[in-house]
Order: sequence, then C-alpha cells, then structure tokens
Amino acid sequence: MCNMVLTCVLFGLLVVCASGAPRSECNDSNCKLPDCHCFGTAVPGGLEPKDIPQLVMLTFDDAIDATNYDDFYSKAFVNRRNPNGCNVSASFFTTHDYSDYMRTYELYRMGHEISLHSITHRTGTDYWATASVEQLEKEFIGQEVMLNKFGLIPKEAMKGIRAPYLQNAGDNTFEMLAKNNLKWDCSWPTGQNEINQIPWPYTLDFKSPQDCPIPPCPQKTHPGVWVVPMVDWMDDDGVHCSMVDACTYITDEDKLVEFMKANFHRHYDGNRAPFPFFLHAAWFLAMPMRFDAYNKFLDYLETLKDVYVVTVSQALEWIQNPTPTSQMGDFWKCWEVPEDTCKPIECHLTREDVGEERYMEICSPCPATYPWIDNPAGSK
Ligand code: ZN
Repeated sequence: MCNMVLTCVLFGLLVVCASGAPRSECNDSNCKLPDCHCFGTAVPGGLEPKDIPQLVMLTFDDAIDATNYDDFYSKAFVNRRNPNGCNVSASFFTTHDYSDYMRTYELYRMGHEISLHSITHRTGTDYWATASVEQLEKEFIGQEVMLNKFGLIPKEAMKGIRAPYLQNAGDNTFEMLAKNNLKWDCSWPTGQNEINQIPWPYTLDFKSPQDCPIPPCPQKTHPGVWVVPMVDWMDDDGVHCSMVDACTYITDEDKLVEFMKANFHRHYDGNRAPFPFFLHAAWFLAMPMRFDAYNKFLDYLETLKDVYVVTVSQALEWIQNPTPTSQMGDFWKCWEVPEDTCKPIECHLTREDVGEERYMEICSPCPATYPWIDNPAGSK
C-alpha cells in the first residue's frame, strides 16, 4: 500500500492512479523474507541452485478412507528417510464425505500435514469459480472445524488449501485465506515449466504476474498469503498436467519411472524450485504397478543426498529461511509422534440431502446429526 501511494506521489500526473493501479515492481528491497517473496525464478536468499536442497512436495487429494489407507497410505512412507535422518512427509488434501477421521488422525500423528480440500467437493466448477468469501469459509473453515473435532487435528496445523478441480474463485479465495489466518494455496497451475524458468512459491504482496490457466485468478494484492504454483508436468508428447495422474496413460512400470525422473530433473538440474509430486490414491488402486513405480521413484530420490521429501508447509519454511544443503542437518527437527489420544468410535448417520447412510470413524463422541456444510459440528 505504502509503495503504491509513493508511486502515485512521485509520478503524479504521469500515471493513472485509479483503476490502472500502478504499483512499484516487487523487488528485494520492498519485499523481504521471511514474510514477503516476489514471483520469480531465482533461488530465494541469492543462493546457487547447486548449493541448496531439492525439495519434493508430495501431496495426495481427497478423502482418506479405510481402503486407501490400508492399501496404500499405511505402506507409502515406511522406512523412507530424508538426508537429515527424519521420515519423509506428505501433505493430504482431504474432503469430508466418506472420510475416516481416525485414520486421518493417524497420518497426522505420523508427521504428515493435513490440509483443506473442502467439505462437499461439489461437482461443477461454476460453484467454485463464483463462490463468495462466505461460501468458501463454509467449505474450508467448516472442514477445519470437522478435522479438529472429529480427527483431533490441531487448528494451527492446518495451514493451506487446494480447491476442488483446482478451481479457485480469484480474489475471494485469497481474501478467505487471509481472513482466516491460513498461509497458502496450492491450487494454481502454471505452464511455466521449462528448465531454469520454473517459478518459486511467492506471496501476493504484489499483483501476481503468473499465467492463469484456470480463471479467475486474483487481481488484487493479499499481503503475506503464499501461492504455491502447481508447476506442470509434461509427457513425451508435450502434454501438460498439474497432477501426475492426469498427464499420461503409461502402462509400463519402467517407462512410468522414467517419466517421473524426467520431470524431476527439470527442477533438479535447473533452479531447484520445489518439485510437485501431486497424486490421488485412486490412481494406484486402479493399477497396482503404479505404486511400484512410485516406490522406485522414491528409492531413486533417496540415492540423492540433497533431496528432501516434505510437506507444502515445510517447503515454505525453507523458502522463508533459505539454507544451504551443507547446513540442513538440523533445519527441521524430526517429528515427535504425539501420544495417541483418539478414542475411535464408529457413527451411523444419515446424510439428509441425499438420504443415504454414512459410517464415520471418528475420535470423539458421535455427533447428533451428519456434519455437513451448514452444520460442520453435526450439532442438533
Ligand atoms: Zn479432489
């Protein structure tokens, strides 16, 4: 704000100060870490790519249920460690319907990040594109209430969102985040994925110059709120995708591993912007060899001593405090598993709007009614 006023005073009649909204360019002197970071391709802190760790953001979308937990999530991280000796960790973007809160709590307890992906995950992108701040609060902050009440996830541990269908609502999304003290969004794809041209996460202290494949995108500033761009992957035919499982239909395991490595190396051999490894468990369930490919790729990452598989929030912590690989030893303390305070109970409730039964595994006494968007606590 200050910069904009200053620009208007300095350039007075030369520029239009009203709707043209001139503002100074974001740079290192008017936007400083840890709470402000300009959009760009340079390594934060002025470090050289070869001297920094390559961060891999591993994320999974949609409800955590008994099937994907037992078949996949409970096995996906076993004995996997980062170079600092701590366990690898992932971010889970969960939704409410069919969620197993007991297992969600277990993933949190094991050191993973639980993030918000809405209560309803309602079909139809128009609903999400045009949602008001209030509607977005019902979807995302209501879900925060549910995860806290039924899954014992501490409120302060939930810091970010991913919009269903990656369909944000422009400024309303970021206004909702700022208003509710959420730190980041990871829903906004970018096709800017050429080697050394990959954008780092940045804050909206200045209007974003990022490409906007899924409009609307914010036109205003939202100081302190981070955008974690979903940097596209690309297959051999040059087809772009924001999620690994949307890109390609490779049925050969080795080819799939090579595809993962090729995308990884555009980051690792370039400016080392965080590498997105964004998946749905359904992708593994549909074809078991994909889980083998995932494991082979993670095995490969473990052979590289400057690669860390972390949550989205951990990646941002590094960006806020850029640290060379040689000093990463105690950058993150290893997660200490908290005492298990979940007293699991299975609740049978009716989701009234569709007239269907739901079984909820939760960590607290059963709510009076099925929790939903207008009544996230499920009170009478
Ligand atoms: Zn989803």
